[in-house]
Amino acid sequence: MSDCIFCKIIDKKIPARIIYEDEHVLAFEDVNPQAPVHTLVIPRKHIPTLLDIKEEDNNLIGHLVKVANKIANDKGIAKRGFRIVANCNPESGQTVYHIHLHILGGRQMHWPPG
Ligand code: 5GP
Ligand code: ZN
Repeated sequence: MSDCIFCKIIDKKIPARIIYEDEHVLAFEDVNPQAPVHTLVIPRKHIPTLLDIKEEDNNLIGHLVKVANKIANDKGIAKRGFRIVANCNPESGQTVYHIHLHILGGRQMHWPPG
């Protein structure tokens, strides 16, 4: 999608600190980190919200979570603990309408998240 900031990162039209990419997904550092580790994992396919995920995306979503796990392992936060967040629609705080998993870690997380 031409006006989507994450599609522009995928197309390398705007820069990002990309740490992983394959045929289906991309991971890059969040520009405004909320924890020592704050990485985003996104599908190359433009899906606006979690509610737009279709049956045909099942493998893609499974892969997205596996890549998030790999990044948590690679960054050394897997055993300590980390959080995966996916916001959906305005009251959740979603600001970019291209689905993404936030991988947050490297500090003690709190609950409820606020
Ligand atoms: P949301 O609020 O939609 O769940 O998360 C969007 C995230 O994308 C935010 O944490 C925000 O800091 C990050 N973000 C927004 N624009 C950019 C950008 O241009 N580059 C990078 N690396 N992260 C971005
Ligand atoms: Zn997009």
